[in-house]
Amino acid sequence: MLIKQAALLDGRIVDIRVDELVREVGAPPGDLAARHGEGVLYANGGTVLPGLHDHHVHVRSAAAALDSFLVGPPGVRTDTELRRLLSNAPPGPDGWIRAIGYHESVAGELDRSFLDAVVPTVPVRIQHRSGALWILNSAALGRVGLAEHPDGRLRSGERGWSDAVLRRESDLAELSRRITAYGVTGVTDATPDLDPAEMESLSSAQRRGEFRPRLGFLSPGKRILREDRLDLDDLARWIGERHAAGGPVAVHCVTAAQLVVAIAALRAAGSHPLDRIEHAAMVPDDTLADLADLGVTVVTQPNFVAERGDQYLADVPVAEHGQLWRVASLLEARVPVALSTDLPFGHGDPWTAMRAAVYRTTPSGVVLNAGERVSARRAVTMFLGRPERPGRSRSIETGQPGDLCVLSEPPATVLAELDAGMVAATVIGGELAYFAM
Ligand SMILES: [Zn+2]
Repeated sequence: MLIKQAALLDGRIVDIRVDELVREVGAPPGDLAARHGEGVLYANGGTVLPGLHDHHVHVRSAAAALDSFLVGPPGVRTDTELRRLLSNAPPGPDGWIRAIGYHESVAGELDRSFLDAVVPTVPVRIQHRSGALWILNSAALGRVGLAEHPDGRLRSGERGWSDAVLRRESDLAELSRRITAYGVTGVTDATPDLDPAEMESLSSAQRRGEFRPRLGFLSPGKRILREDRLDLDDLARWIGERHAAGGPVAVHCVTAAQLVVAIAALRAAGSHPLDRIEHAAMVPDDTLADLADLGVTVVTQPNFVAERGDQYLADVPVAEHGQLWRVASLLEARVPVALSTDLPFGHGDPWTAMRAAVYRTTPSGVVLNAGERVSARRAVTMFLGRPERPGRSRSIETGQPGDLCVLSEPPATVLAELDAGMVAATVIGGELAYFAM
Protein backbone atom coordinates (compact mmCIF):
# COMPACT_ATOMS: atom_id res chain seq x y z
CA MET A 1 0.00 0.00 0.00
CA LEU A 2 1.13 3.54 -0.76
CA ILE A 3 0.03 6.47 1.38
CA LYS A 4 0.43 9.79 -0.41
CA GLN A 5 0.95 13.21 1.16
CA ALA A 6 1.02 12.16 4.77
CA ALA A 7 1.84 14.82 7.36
CA LEU A 8 4.11 13.49 10.09
CA LEU A 9 3.84 14.89 13.60
CA ASP A 10 7.02 16.92 12.99
CA GLY A 11 5.32 18.65 10.04
CA ARG A 12 7.13 16.89 7.18
CA ILE A 13 4.94 15.81 4.26
CA VAL A 14 5.92 12.37 2.97
CA ASP A 15 4.77 9.39 0.95
CA ILE A 16 4.85 6.06 2.79
CA ARG A 17 5.10 2.61 1.20
CA VAL A 18 4.01 -0.01 3.69
CA ASP A 19 3.42 -3.75 3.89
CA GLU A 20 4.27 -5.88 6.91
CA LEU A 21 6.91 -3.18 7.51
CA VAL A 22 7.31 0.44 6.50
CA ARG A 23 9.36 -0.03 3.31
CA GLU A 24 9.96 3.51 2.08
CA VAL A 25 9.39 7.01 3.33
CA GLY A 26 9.71 9.47 0.46
CA ALA A 27 9.89 13.24 0.64
CA PRO A 28 9.10 15.73 -0.82
CA PRO A 29 5.62 14.71 -2.07
CA GLY A 30 5.43 12.86 -5.32
CA ASP A 31 8.66 11.02 -4.70
CA LEU A 32 7.06 7.60 -4.57
CA ALA A 33 5.05 6.52 -7.61
CA ALA A 34 2.32 3.89 -7.27
CA ARG A 35 3.28 0.50 -8.62
CA HIS A 36 0.99 -1.64 -10.70
CA GLY A 37 -1.69 -3.18 -8.49
CA GLU A 38 -0.66 -1.21 -5.40
CA GLY A 39 -3.44 0.30 -3.30
CA VAL A 40 -3.11 4.06 -2.86
CA LEU A 41 -4.51 6.00 0.07
CA TYR A 42 -4.48 9.79 -0.32
CA ALA A 43 -3.87 11.38 3.07
CA ASN A 44 -3.95 14.87 1.47
CA GLY A 45 -1.98 16.48 4.26
CA GLY A 46 -3.74 14.56 7.00
CA THR A 47 -1.59 13.37 9.89
CA VAL A 48 -0.14 9.86 9.85
CA LEU A 49 1.05 8.42 13.16
CA PRO A 50 2.45 5.03 14.07
CA GLY A 51 -0.59 2.96 15.07
CA LEU A 52 -1.66 3.56 18.66
CA HIS A 53 -0.87 0.82 21.15
CA ASP A 54 -3.16 0.46 24.17
CA HIS A 55 -0.75 -0.90 26.77
CA HIS A 56 -3.27 -2.17 29.31
CA VAL A 57 -6.61 -3.71 28.30
CA HIS A 58 -8.62 -6.84 29.10
CA VAL A 59 -9.71 -8.31 25.78
CA ARG A 60 -12.19 -10.98 26.91
CA SER A 61 -13.76 -8.76 29.55
CA ALA A 62 -14.06 -5.99 26.97
CA ALA A 63 -15.80 -8.31 24.51
CA ALA A 64 -18.11 -9.56 27.28
CA ALA A 65 -18.83 -5.99 28.39
CA LEU A 66 -20.31 -5.25 24.97
CA ASP A 67 -23.52 -6.96 26.07
CA SER A 68 -23.39 -6.31 29.81
CA PHE A 69 -25.36 -3.84 31.88
CA LEU A 70 -23.56 -1.02 33.62
CA VAL A 71 -24.52 -0.98 37.31
CA GLY A 72 -22.28 1.79 38.65
CA PRO A 73 -22.14 5.57 38.55
CA PRO A 74 -23.03 7.66 36.65
CA GLY A 75 -25.78 5.47 35.12
CA VAL A 76 -26.80 3.71 38.36
CA ARG A 77 -26.31 5.59 41.63
CA THR A 78 -28.74 4.20 44.18
CA ASP A 79 -29.97 0.94 45.69
CA THR A 80 -33.39 1.56 44.10
CA GLU A 81 -31.92 2.16 40.64
CA LEU A 82 -29.84 -1.01 40.94
CA ARG A 83 -32.83 -3.14 41.98
CA ARG A 84 -34.97 -1.71 39.21
CA LEU A 85 -32.33 -2.36 36.55
CA LEU A 86 -31.59 -5.93 37.66
CA SER A 87 -35.21 -6.97 38.04
CA ASN A 88 -35.99 -5.72 34.50
CA ALA A 89 -32.77 -6.92 32.84
CA PRO A 90 -33.32 -9.53 30.10
CA PRO A 91 -30.89 -12.47 30.24
CA GLY A 92 -28.34 -12.76 27.41
CA PRO A 93 -28.34 -15.56 24.80
CA ASP A 94 -26.70 -17.92 27.31
CA GLY A 95 -29.37 -17.31 29.94
CA TRP A 96 -27.21 -15.14 32.25
CA ILE A 97 -27.64 -11.55 33.33
CA ARG A 98 -24.22 -9.92 33.36
CA ALA A 99 -23.48 -6.54 34.82
CA ILE A 100 -20.28 -4.56 35.16
CA GLY A 101 -18.93 -1.43 36.81
CA TYR A 102 -20.39 -1.92 40.31
CA HIS A 103 -19.19 0.39 43.08
CA GLU A 104 -20.14 0.31 46.81
CA SER A 105 -21.47 3.88 46.63
CA VAL A 106 -24.55 2.39 44.91
CA ALA A 107 -25.79 -0.15 47.47
CA GLY A 108 -22.88 -1.13 49.74
CA GLU A 109 -21.17 -4.53 49.67
CA LEU A 110 -23.36 -6.80 47.59
CA ASP A 111 -23.68 -10.51 48.32
CA ARG A 112 -25.68 -13.49 47.12
CA SER A 113 -28.64 -12.86 49.39
CA PHE A 114 -29.03 -9.27 48.17
CA LEU A 115 -29.05 -10.52 44.57
CA ASP A 116 -31.36 -13.48 45.35
CA ALA A 117 -33.94 -11.06 46.72
CA VAL A 118 -33.93 -9.13 43.43
CA VAL A 119 -33.39 -11.95 40.91
CA PRO A 120 -34.29 -15.31 42.46
CA THR A 121 -34.05 -17.75 39.53
CA VAL A 122 -31.99 -16.36 36.63
CA PRO A 123 -28.19 -16.52 37.08
CA VAL A 124 -26.74 -13.08 37.75
CA ARG A 125 -23.09 -12.13 37.71
CA ILE A 126 -21.98 -8.64 38.72
CA GLN A 127 -18.43 -7.51 38.22
CA HIS A 128 -17.00 -4.88 40.55
CA ARG A 129 -15.57 -1.78 38.93
CA SER A 130 -12.06 -2.83 40.01
CA GLY A 131 -12.34 -5.91 37.80
CA ALA A 132 -11.06 -8.06 40.66
CA LEU A 133 -14.34 -9.05 42.35
CA TRP A 134 -17.49 -10.78 41.14
CA ILE A 135 -20.74 -11.17 43.03
CA LEU A 136 -23.02 -14.05 42.01
CA ASN A 137 -26.55 -14.91 43.06
CA SER A 138 -27.47 -18.45 44.12
CA ALA A 139 -28.66 -19.48 40.66
CA ALA A 140 -25.30 -18.42 39.20
CA LEU A 141 -23.31 -20.10 42.00
CA GLY A 142 -25.21 -23.32 41.32
CA ARG A 143 -24.31 -23.13 37.63
CA VAL A 144 -20.57 -22.88 38.34
CA GLY A 145 -20.53 -25.59 40.99
CA LEU A 146 -20.29 -23.28 44.00
CA ALA A 147 -23.77 -23.71 45.49
CA GLU A 148 -22.23 -23.80 48.99
CA HIS A 149 -20.25 -20.55 48.66
CA PRO A 150 -20.83 -18.45 51.82
CA ASP A 151 -21.54 -15.02 50.34
CA GLY A 152 -21.15 -15.27 46.57
CA ARG A 153 -18.27 -12.77 46.54
CA LEU A 154 -15.53 -14.24 44.34
CA ARG A 155 -12.17 -12.52 44.14
CA SER A 156 -9.69 -12.64 41.28
CA GLY A 157 -6.87 -15.07 42.01
CA GLU A 158 -8.85 -17.11 44.55
CA ARG A 159 -8.74 -20.77 43.73
CA GLY A 160 -11.65 -23.15 43.73
CA TRP A 161 -14.09 -21.50 41.40
CA SER A 162 -14.73 -21.99 37.78
CA ASP A 163 -13.10 -20.02 35.00
CA ALA A 164 -16.55 -20.07 33.42
CA VAL A 165 -17.46 -17.17 35.67
CA LEU A 166 -14.72 -15.04 34.20
CA ARG A 167 -14.47 -15.98 30.59
CA ARG A 168 -16.70 -16.92 27.80
CA GLU A 169 -16.59 -16.74 24.07
CA SER A 170 -18.00 -13.49 22.84
CA ASP A 171 -17.82 -11.28 19.88
CA LEU A 172 -14.18 -10.36 19.47
CA ALA A 173 -14.90 -9.12 15.95
CA GLU A 174 -17.15 -6.33 17.19
CA LEU A 175 -14.58 -5.34 19.79
CA SER A 176 -11.90 -5.36 17.10
CA ARG A 177 -13.99 -3.00 14.93
CA ARG A 178 -14.41 -0.56 17.78
CA ILE A 179 -10.75 -0.60 18.78
CA THR A 180 -9.38 -0.17 15.26
CA ALA A 181 -11.77 2.76 14.67
CA TYR A 182 -9.73 4.60 17.33
CA GLY A 183 -6.55 4.09 15.32
CA VAL A 184 -5.34 1.36 17.65
CA THR A 185 -3.16 -1.25 15.96
CA GLY A 186 -2.07 -3.22 19.00
CA VAL A 187 -3.09 -3.98 22.58
CA THR A 188 -1.48 -5.59 25.59
CA ASP A 189 -3.82 -7.82 27.55
CA ALA A 190 -3.13 -7.17 31.22
CA THR A 191 -5.38 -9.86 32.66
CA PRO A 192 -3.52 -11.70 35.44
CA ASP A 193 -3.28 -15.50 35.50
CA LEU A 194 -4.52 -16.06 31.96
CA ASP A 195 -3.98 -19.74 31.29
CA PRO A 196 -2.06 -20.85 28.17
CA ALA A 197 -5.25 -22.18 26.53
CA GLU A 198 -6.94 -18.81 26.92
CA MET A 199 -3.94 -16.99 25.46
CA GLU A 200 -3.88 -19.42 22.56
CA SER A 201 -7.60 -18.92 21.96
CA LEU A 202 -7.13 -15.15 21.75
CA SER A 203 -4.01 -15.47 19.61
CA SER A 204 -5.79 -17.77 17.18
CA ALA A 205 -8.68 -15.27 16.91
CA GLN A 206 -6.03 -12.73 16.00
CA ARG A 207 -4.43 -15.00 13.38
CA ARG A 208 -7.85 -15.74 11.85
CA GLY A 209 -8.48 -12.01 11.49
CA GLU A 210 -11.44 -12.05 13.86
CA PHE A 211 -9.44 -9.73 16.14
CA ARG A 212 -7.24 -7.43 14.05
CA PRO A 213 -4.97 -5.52 16.47
CA ARG A 214 -1.65 -7.06 17.40
CA LEU A 215 -1.90 -8.76 20.73
CA GLY A 216 0.52 -9.19 23.61
CA PHE A 217 0.07 -10.53 27.14
CA LEU A 218 1.39 -9.55 30.54
CA SER A 219 0.44 -12.95 31.94
CA PRO A 220 2.12 -14.94 33.47
CA GLY A 221 4.24 -12.02 34.72
CA LYS A 222 1.33 -9.99 36.10
CA ARG A 223 0.33 -9.84 39.73
CA ILE A 224 -2.40 -7.96 41.55
CA LEU A 225 -1.65 -6.90 45.12
CA ARG A 226 -4.42 -7.15 47.67
CA GLU A 227 -4.49 -4.35 50.18
CA ASP A 228 -5.37 -6.66 53.07
CA ARG A 229 -2.57 -9.15 52.32
CA LEU A 230 0.53 -7.22 51.33
CA ASP A 231 3.40 -9.66 51.68
CA LEU A 232 6.77 -8.17 50.75
CA ASP A 233 8.76 -11.41 50.98
CA ASP A 234 6.26 -13.32 48.91
CA LEU A 235 6.22 -10.62 46.23
CA ALA A 236 10.04 -10.37 46.14
CA ARG A 237 10.30 -14.17 45.82
CA TRP A 238 7.82 -14.19 42.93
CA ILE A 239 9.65 -11.33 41.15
CA GLY A 240 12.94 -13.19 41.58
CA GLU A 241 11.43 -16.35 40.08
CA ARG A 242 10.01 -14.48 37.09
CA HIS A 243 13.31 -12.77 36.42
CA ALA A 244 15.21 -16.05 36.78
CA ALA A 245 12.85 -17.51 34.15
CA GLY A 246 13.87 -14.66 31.84
CA GLY A 247 10.69 -12.59 31.99
CA PRO A 248 9.83 -9.15 33.35
CA VAL A 249 7.02 -8.50 35.84
CA ALA A 250 4.04 -6.16 35.88
CA VAL A 251 2.77 -5.26 39.34
CA HIS A 252 -0.71 -3.81 39.76
CA CYS A 253 -0.53 -0.88 42.21
CA VAL A 254 -3.52 1.31 42.93
CA THR A 255 -2.76 2.43 46.50
CA ALA A 256 0.31 4.13 47.91
CA ALA A 257 0.93 1.13 50.21
CA GLN A 258 0.93 -1.24 47.25
CA LEU A 259 3.39 0.96 45.38
CA VAL A 260 5.72 1.15 48.38
CA VAL A 261 5.67 -2.64 48.78
CA ALA A 262 6.20 -3.15 45.03
CA ILE A 263 9.22 -0.82 45.11
CA ALA A 264 10.68 -2.61 48.15
CA ALA A 265 10.16 -6.00 46.49
CA LEU A 266 11.81 -4.81 43.26
CA ARG A 267 14.72 -3.47 45.31
CA ALA A 268 15.08 -6.82 47.09
CA ALA A 269 14.73 -8.97 43.96
CA GLY A 270 16.49 -6.60 41.54
CA SER A 271 14.69 -5.08 38.57
CA HIS A 272 14.49 -6.17 34.94
CA PRO A 273 14.63 -3.43 32.28
CA LEU A 274 11.12 -4.34 31.07
CA ASP A 275 9.44 -4.42 34.50
CA ARG A 276 6.24 -2.38 34.78
CA ILE A 277 4.00 -0.85 37.39
CA GLU A 278 0.36 -0.96 36.28
CA HIS A 279 -1.94 1.99 37.13
CA ALA A 280 0.16 3.76 39.80
CA ALA A 281 -3.07 5.50 40.80
CA MET A 282 -1.43 6.93 43.95
CA VAL A 283 2.21 8.01 43.77
CA PRO A 284 3.65 9.65 46.94
CA ASP A 285 6.41 12.22 46.33
CA ASP A 286 9.10 10.12 47.95
CA THR A 287 8.56 7.21 45.55
CA LEU A 288 9.36 9.21 42.40
CA ALA A 289 13.12 8.88 42.79
CA ASP A 290 12.82 5.16 43.65
CA LEU A 291 10.80 4.47 40.51
CA ALA A 292 13.34 6.33 38.37
CA ASP A 293 16.19 4.51 40.06
CA LEU A 294 14.63 1.09 39.44
CA GLY A 295 14.07 1.93 35.77
CA VAL A 296 10.55 0.51 35.83
CA THR A 297 7.95 1.77 33.37
CA VAL A 298 4.68 3.16 34.73
CA VAL A 299 1.66 2.25 32.60
CA THR A 300 -1.10 4.54 33.79
CA GLN A 301 -4.63 5.72 32.94
CA PRO A 302 -5.34 9.44 33.35
CA ASN A 303 -8.71 8.72 31.72
CA PHE A 304 -9.89 7.75 35.20
CA VAL A 305 -9.53 11.40 36.18
CA ALA A 306 -12.05 12.25 33.47
CA GLU A 307 -14.29 9.28 34.29
CA ARG A 308 -14.19 9.07 38.10
CA GLY A 309 -12.33 12.18 39.22
CA ASP A 310 -15.11 13.55 41.42
CA GLN A 311 -15.35 10.27 43.29
CA TYR A 312 -11.60 10.32 43.99
CA LEU A 313 -11.88 13.86 45.28
CA ALA A 314 -14.65 12.73 47.63
CA ASP A 315 -13.05 9.43 48.75
CA VAL A 316 -9.33 10.28 48.97
CA PRO A 317 -8.12 12.47 51.87
CA VAL A 318 -7.39 16.01 50.69
CA ALA A 319 -3.74 15.74 51.76
CA GLU A 320 -3.30 12.86 49.28
CA HIS A 321 -5.01 14.43 46.25
CA GLY A 322 -1.62 15.39 44.84
CA GLN A 323 -0.73 11.67 44.57
CA LEU A 324 -3.59 10.84 42.20
CA TRP A 325 -2.89 9.66 38.64
CA ARG A 326 0.38 11.52 38.21
CA VAL A 327 1.96 11.88 34.80
CA ALA A 328 4.04 15.07 34.42
CA SER A 329 5.94 14.66 37.69
CA LEU A 330 6.80 11.04 36.79
CA LEU A 331 8.20 12.22 33.46
CA GLU A 332 10.11 15.03 35.16
CA ALA A 333 11.62 12.46 37.52
CA ARG A 334 12.71 10.51 34.40
CA VAL A 335 10.37 7.60 34.97
CA PRO A 336 9.30 6.07 31.63
CA VAL A 337 5.51 6.49 31.35
CA ALA A 338 3.00 5.05 28.90
CA LEU A 339 -0.74 5.59 28.72
CA SER A 340 -3.49 3.03 28.32
CA THR A 341 -7.25 2.82 28.89
CA ASP A 342 -7.79 -0.32 31.04
CA LEU A 343 -10.69 -1.21 28.71
CA PRO A 344 -13.38 -2.21 29.74
CA PHE A 345 -12.85 -0.77 33.24
CA GLY A 346 -11.92 2.51 31.64
CA HIS A 347 -13.49 3.85 28.48
CA GLY A 348 -11.56 2.34 25.57
CA ASP A 349 -11.06 5.52 23.52
CA PRO A 350 -7.36 6.46 23.75
CA TRP A 351 -8.14 9.97 22.50
CA THR A 352 -10.32 10.49 25.57
CA ALA A 353 -7.37 9.35 27.68
CA MET A 354 -5.07 11.80 25.86
CA ARG A 355 -7.47 14.69 26.47
CA ALA A 356 -7.63 13.68 30.12
CA ALA A 357 -3.82 13.77 30.30
CA VAL A 358 -3.85 17.27 28.80
CA TYR A 359 -6.79 18.80 30.72
CA ARG A 360 -7.29 16.56 33.77
CA THR A 361 -10.89 17.68 34.11
CA THR A 362 -13.27 15.61 36.27
CA PRO A 363 -16.87 15.02 35.12
CA SER A 364 -18.00 18.04 37.18
CA GLY A 365 -15.32 20.24 35.62
CA VAL A 366 -12.75 20.41 38.43
CA VAL A 367 -9.09 20.22 37.36
CA LEU A 368 -7.41 17.43 39.33
CA ASN A 369 -3.67 18.08 39.85
CA ALA A 370 -3.09 20.79 37.28
CA GLY A 371 0.65 20.26 37.71
CA GLU A 372 0.34 16.76 36.25
CA ARG A 373 -0.93 18.01 32.89
CA VAL A 374 1.17 17.24 29.82
CA SER A 375 1.23 18.68 26.31
CA ALA A 376 -0.98 17.18 23.60
CA ARG A 377 2.11 16.05 21.70
CA ARG A 378 3.39 14.25 24.77
CA ALA A 379 -0.01 12.65 25.37
CA VAL A 380 -0.10 11.28 21.81
CA THR A 381 3.47 10.01 22.08
CA MET A 382 2.62 8.07 25.24
CA PHE A 383 0.26 5.91 23.13
CA LEU A 384 2.99 5.23 20.57
CA GLY A 385 5.22 3.11 22.80
CA ARG A 386 6.68 -0.19 21.73
CA PRO A 387 4.53 -3.11 22.84
CA GLU A 388 7.31 -4.65 24.94
CA ARG A 389 8.82 -1.32 25.99
CA PRO A 390 5.87 1.03 26.43
CA GLY A 391 7.96 4.00 27.55
CA ARG A 392 9.94 4.13 24.30
CA SER A 393 7.93 5.50 21.40
CA ARG A 394 7.91 4.42 17.77
CA SER A 395 8.23 6.68 14.73
CA ILE A 396 7.48 6.28 11.06
CA GLU A 397 10.66 5.14 9.40
CA THR A 398 11.86 2.37 7.13
CA GLY A 399 11.89 -1.01 8.84
CA GLN A 400 9.29 -0.16 11.50
CA PRO A 401 6.12 -2.31 11.69
CA GLY A 402 3.57 -1.44 8.98
CA ASP A 403 1.02 -0.24 11.53
CA LEU A 404 -0.32 3.27 10.99
CA CYS A 405 -3.06 5.59 12.14
CA VAL A 406 -4.19 7.95 9.37
CA LEU A 407 -6.10 11.06 10.43
CA SER A 408 -8.16 13.44 8.35
CA GLU A 409 -6.56 16.63 9.72
CA PRO A 410 -3.07 18.17 9.82
CA PRO A 411 -0.99 17.83 13.01
CA ALA A 412 -1.96 21.21 14.50
CA THR A 413 -5.67 20.28 14.39
CA VAL A 414 -5.06 16.73 15.60
CA LEU A 415 -3.14 18.05 18.62
CA ALA A 416 -5.69 20.77 19.33
CA GLU A 417 -8.67 18.41 19.27
CA LEU A 418 -7.34 14.92 20.17
CA ASP A 419 -10.55 13.43 18.83
CA ALA A 420 -11.10 9.86 17.63
CA GLY A 421 -13.54 11.22 15.04
CA MET A 422 -10.51 12.33 13.00
CA VAL A 423 -9.25 8.77 12.52
CA ALA A 424 -9.70 8.16 8.78
CA ALA A 425 -7.96 4.80 8.42
CA THR A 426 -6.09 2.25 10.45
CA VAL A 427 -3.42 0.14 8.78
CA ILE A 428 -2.10 -3.06 10.38
CA GLY A 429 0.74 -4.90 8.67
CA GLY A 430 0.15 -2.94 5.46
CA GLU A 431 -3.56 -3.80 5.31
CA LEU A 432 -6.54 -1.58 5.96
CA ALA A 433 -8.07 -2.70 9.26
CA TYR A 434 -10.42 0.30 9.45
CA PHE A 435 -11.52 2.88 6.93
CA ALA A 436 -13.92 5.72 7.77
CA MET A 437 -16.56 5.84 5.05
ZN1 LIG B 1 -6.56 -3.66 34.25
